[in-house]
Amino acid sequence: MQKRESYQTGDQALVRQINLSLVMNILRTQAPISRAALAQATGLNKATVSDLVFDLMERGFIREVGMKSSGTGRPATLLTLHPAAGFIVSCEIAVDFIEVLVTDFAPEVFWQVKERTSPEMGQQAILERTLALLFQAVEKGRATEAPLFGVAIGVPGMVDSTSGTLLFAPNLGWNNVELLAFFEKANFGAPVFVDNEANLAALGEHYFGAARGYDNVLYLSGNIGLGGGVVRDGHLCRGVSGVASEFGHMTMNPDGELCNCGNRGCWETQVSQKALYRYLDEFINAGKKSILEHLSGNYSVESIVDAARMGDEAAVLALEKTGRHLGIGIASLLNALNPELVVLGGMLSLAADFLLPVVENEIQNRALRWNRESAQVVRAAHGSDACVKGGIAVVYQSVLLQANPLAILGR
Ligand SMILES: [Zn+2]
Repeated sequence: MQKRESYQTGDQALVRQINLSLVMNILRTQAPISRAALAQATGLNKATVSDLVFDLMERGFIREVGMKSSGTGRPATLLTLHPAAGFIVSCEIAVDFIEVLVTDFAPEVFWQVKERTSPEMGQQAILERTLALLFQAVEKGRATEAPLFGVAIGVPGMVDSTSGTLLFAPNLGWNNVELLAFFEKANFGAPVFVDNEANLAALGEHYFGAARGYDNVLYLSGNIGLGGGVVRDGHLCRGVSGVASEFGHMTMNPDGELCNCGNRGCWETQVSQKALYRYLDEFINAGKKSILEHLSGNYSVESIVDAARMGDEAAVLALEKTGRHLGIGIASLLNALNPELVVLGGMLSLAADFLLPVVENEIQNRALRWNRESAQVVRAAHGSDACVKGGIAVVYQSVLLQANPLAILGR
């Protein structure tokens, strides 16, 4: 009998944790919201909701923010997540920069720094610089006297989700770097998350960006490489060891260009900055007129998009060729994943005006009707901040979705 009782206690504690998490998540997506509306949204009775709200307010997770009159009866007090509940540090180690920011729980950014780097600086120097910036960020956050909820670090490579080891970052030239262990040694006093930058960006778009309200999302981001992330039923799809969604390395042309991963004809050899620059050179060499001719070797995506807007023939053709290869890949991914939304980030978002019509056309011609009809392709809401915004989302998710928001703080 003794055992039976402890099971019941355990069950009740679990149910309470799940309910707390449920309330927090409704607040994240629907605040400001009244207790009565919370009860309706969660399906819990009003007394239970009032009790959970009391508990979360006591611990500083949520707060009351004024009244709303519904026309009849007493006006209802509205609730939101409390911005001062805690702070979050998010960081991106990119191929050519480090970016670190600090947000409150709203999440509003209140400190941000971005520094240029280059792979030639070497792994050790880049990691030590990152650590120094993270310490600065944590110090800025601590000045608010709120607790640190977590530190997220995004990297341009494959991360083993069980060990937090960066297995391979082709464009940095890094192999088997025990990143989680390295950053955990800093003892920030909060969980550290290390993930692939496109995975983070996908979650960031789902939480705070273009994919808000969509639970099945394919995110693709082109920059130096081509990264991807999949949100399925509201969670990142990481695969068995965390290295899923490496869509940039799908073989699209067995005899194509050599990729930094060592294979030939990967999708990112067709859709990336490098590919766009190569197409532009090809069209110029084939005699197409371009105002960018003199820039060969020093192109930027921005300059190509600007030239295309002015009607530059070679720039338009180079963007359209990129769009065609992008669309061919997306059509296959629609058939494979059946998402409701495809979000284009990085340079794909920058060039979306020229890419989207071509992508739509390829999808129309190549994807199966049912997969095609259920999916929309849009540009990302987060520009160059996509990865760090995603880092915030990962920490958010750990606080909100672990069905135990209170355990995060050990209270
Ligand atoms: Zn590759």
